[in-house]
Amino acid sequence: MKIQVLGCAGAELPGHNMPGVLIDRTVLLDAGTIGLALDFQDQKDIENIFITHAHLDHIKAIPFFADNLVTRETGHTVSIHSDPEVIQILKQHLFNGLLWPDFSVIPSVENPTIRYVPMASETTVKLNKHKVTAYHVNHTTPAVGYLVVSDSGKRIVYTGDTGPTDQIWQACDEHVLEAVIIEMSFPNRMTDLAIKTGHMTPDLLAKEILKMKNLPLRFFISHSKPLYMEEIYDELAEISREYIEILQDGQVIYL
Ligand SMILES: [Zn+2]
Ligand SMILES: [Zn+2]
Repeated sequence: MKIQVLGCAGAELPGHNMPGVLIDRTVLLDAGTIGLALDFQDQKDIENIFITHAHLDHIKAIPFFADNLVTRETGHTVSIHSDPEVIQILKQHLFNGLLWPDFSVIPSVENPTIRYVPMASETTVKLNKHKVTAYHVNHTTPAVGYLVVSDSGKRIVYTGDTGPTDQIWQACDEHVLEAVIIEMSFPNRMTDLAIKTGHMTPDLLAKEILKMKNLPLRFFISHSKPLYMEEIYDELAEISREYIEILQDGQVIYL
């Protein structure tokens, strides 16, 4: 499994892109960054996008990505998967013909640029080379995380934005995951704010780890606010310097 980190920051600044994690060139988890990281040829390979929730930092690249695809007129339809409520938000508030064109009917109803695929939590979508299962997580808007299983048997969990949560750790029940990519927005001194806004701190992560029946082989941290990164990293080092890795924009990981 090849994991390309298009972006993994919790805020946008030069050198820090919003979340987007590309699996084996074709499956994108969150779409905060596409065109800032992938050239046109690579964008064309994306077939399925799994959105964790509708906050802008996780979806904002889709409008310009759809615009790129429609102009090449090759009839490539990209599936946008997410919780039914998230899909409804995208339809109603973004691709509504006002804020941006409705690319689910452009260039034509029969052959659109994007199509929506609502998926309830704890259901699985089978793709050519991957199986993706959605699990509810705990954020301030409807949100899910994903378990991705490749045909080579590699398993990763991507949480998206979440505070302390439960359902998604079912993914650890029967198998040892190759990796968990978990968000870490705030340092410990901001734990109250993190809980209120549905985010993680190092102390909260330590408690989440206790919920996992099988520990993953690797832990990757994403979605840190650049302003607090050093503080967060120092605090994470107290949990485990070797075990927990900090995800970087542009990083490529082979599992
Ligand atoms: Zn969010
Ligand atoms: Zn976010």
